[in-house]
Amino acid sequence: METQRSRNRKGAKRRRAQGNEQNRDAKKSKSEPPGSSFLEKMKARLSGGHFRMINEKLYTCTGEEALDYFKEDPSLFNVYHAGYQAQMSQWPEQPVHKIIEWLQARSPSLTVADFGCGDARVAKSVKNKVFSFDLVSNDPDVIAGDMSNTCLDSSSVDVAIFCLSLMGVNYPNFLKEAYRVLKPSGWLLIAEVKSRLDPKTGGADPNKFIKAVCELGFTQVSKDFTNKMFVLFHFTKQEKPISKRKEIAWPELKPCIYKRR
Ligand code: SAH
Repeated sequence: METQRSRNRKGAKRRRAQGNEQNRDAKKSKSEPPGSSFLEKMKARLSGGHFRMINEKLYTCTGEEALDYFKEDPSLFNVYHAGYQAQMSQWPEQPVHKIIEWLQARSPSLTVADFGCGDARVAKSVKNKVFSFDLVSNDPDVIAGDMSNTCLDSSSVDVAIFCLSLMGVNYPNFLKEAYRVLKPSGWLLIAEVKSRLDPKTGGADPNKFIKAVCELGFTQVSKDFTNKMFVLFHFTKQEKPISKRKEIAWPELKPCIYKRR
């Protein structure tokens, strides 16, 4: 049978326990910002994992397979781009800004093709006519499809841009398409994740990459390795088509796989 004394002792214990819990909650709300609840952390972790999975898929399949992948579930494209922007926000400088600056310093009459445009930031930032291509279009200005086969006429644009978009294992086909649509002397701008072209970390030899692009029919104008996260190349399309096309030794570009944080 419970005595008055034991009831009092139990009551005191309960009050102490409640007090401890309140203390814990008070401490938590002081040290953690309001948006960092357990549920939100779990959601962020899940969508981070989802982003990494889609990213890996895009780097290990062809452009056509990537198109089918997003056709089956176009919402994956938004998951990918939310994760992509989260990654980019940690880069000290974004290559797309360098490319926009380059365009802004030139004539707005140059027509541009942005291959793998993402959220079409280039088109939104310059006065030029920009044809923006990506696998999915959430924007009336973006043309959806695999960029190895665009709707552009041959020799019709002045500038072709690949900003972190040489993702498919058949990336030479994307560059061949750029070669087709560029006018003679037209510009080819390529920004790529540095580790993909760093032999010290298992990436491709940048000189082999440059050689292959030149064999396709371009002249190298500049290479910029000064940025910590990306490399930037400028080429121009040669005036005269290459008469005898030999087999080009394209180096494999290492997939850019993001680590779990
Ligand atoms: N250039 C943009 C986005 C880079 S993310 C920027 O710098 O902000 C790379 C983009 O390339 C993604 O949006 C991806 O969907 C696109 N992409 C990859 N392979 C493609 C293909 N075969 N055809 C069209 N777009 C492709």
